[in-house]
Amino acid sequence: MTFKRFFQWTKSIDSCEADIRPALKADEKDVQWHQSTDVIVTGFGGAGVSAALEAYDNGADVMVLERYNGGGSTAISGGVVYTGGGTEIQKQCGVEDDPDNMYQYLQKEVKGAVSDETLRDFCEKGVSNFDWLRENGVPFKDSLCPYKTSYPNDSYYLYYSGNEVFPPYNEKASPAPRGHRAHSKGMSGAAIFEPLRKACQRRDIKVRTQSKVEQLITDKDGQVLGITKNGSLRLRDREDVGYNINVGEIHLRPVDLSEKSTKLVAK
Ligand SMILES: Cc1cc2nc3c(=O)[nH]c(=O)nc-3n(C[C@H](O)[C@H](O)[C@H](O)COP(=O)(O)OP(=O)(O)OC[C@H]3O[C@@H](n4cnc5c(N)ncnc54)[C@H](O)[C@@H]3O)c2cc1C
Repeated sequence: MTFKRFFQWTKSIDSCEADIRPALKADEKDVQWHQSTDVIVTGFGGAGVSAALEAYDNGADVMVLERYNGGGSTAISGGVVYTGGGTEIQKQCGVEDDPDNMYQYLQKEVKGAVSDETLRDFCEKGVSNFDWLRENGVPFKDSLCPYKTSYPNDSYYLYYSGNEVFPPYNEKASPAPRGHRAHSKGMSGAAIFEPLRKACQRRDIKVRTQSKVEQLITDKDGQVLGITKNGSLRLRDREDVGYNINVGEIHLRPVDLSEKSTKLVAK
């Protein structure tokens, strides 16, 4: 490979990461829509798969667009879910915790990086979010690591992943281990993502891989009407193929602000 070719190649990789183009402003009737759905989820990692399941379970028609094959950094992560406030796994391990105790610790730890309101919400929903993961097939295990570690070995699945046991944190909140590692050997990220992927497959959720969201389409007031997607990422490496080839426009069907859609936003 010549230096020039190598440079072009690295540039194309680089542009894959951050080249969602500025929104295209259009009149809805002027766009030739190829497909239509209630909710488009961009990216099929941990956030995307959860959003897709929740939207679907609240009655929406859902389409997920993923530029590669799915999983993202979630599937290669350590698979440790930081949560607490009294999860079933904490209880089975004899750990005492409650949402306010978790909040007191995290408030000191995050030092205002997250608003108190968001943090309180995160702590109060800790148990229900954890239950949601388990209901959707993510496995956890009640085996408490007796020592502080950055990542436990395959004998342990609940551990102190933060600074809970150290001063000044232990002066403000009673220490509780909250690192819930999904149950599998080695790095456990796939043990979170794969059950959620399968939960999508069991529902009528359309997951389109090798489909990169290129651009939002909005009306003149900025209201999102839909998106453009590239059908195949590989085409983009070829200089003779422009962005407009193999692009499909997907229309977001307007959903009325009934209880259903309010719930979708609120969750
Ligand atoms: C090695 C490692 C270990 C980690 N361990 C932990 C851990 O133990 N616990 C923890 O809490 N966090 C951990 N993290 C961080 C955690 O993995 C991430 O914060 C989390 O997975 C992010 O989830 P996500 O859904 O936002 O992104 P991702 O899981 O990365 O998913 C984003 C998806 O969007 C797709 N995408 C992006 N742009 C587009 C587009 N324009 N069109 C279509 N698709 C697109 C990507 O291809 C990707 O599949 C770790 C991270 C790494 C790298």
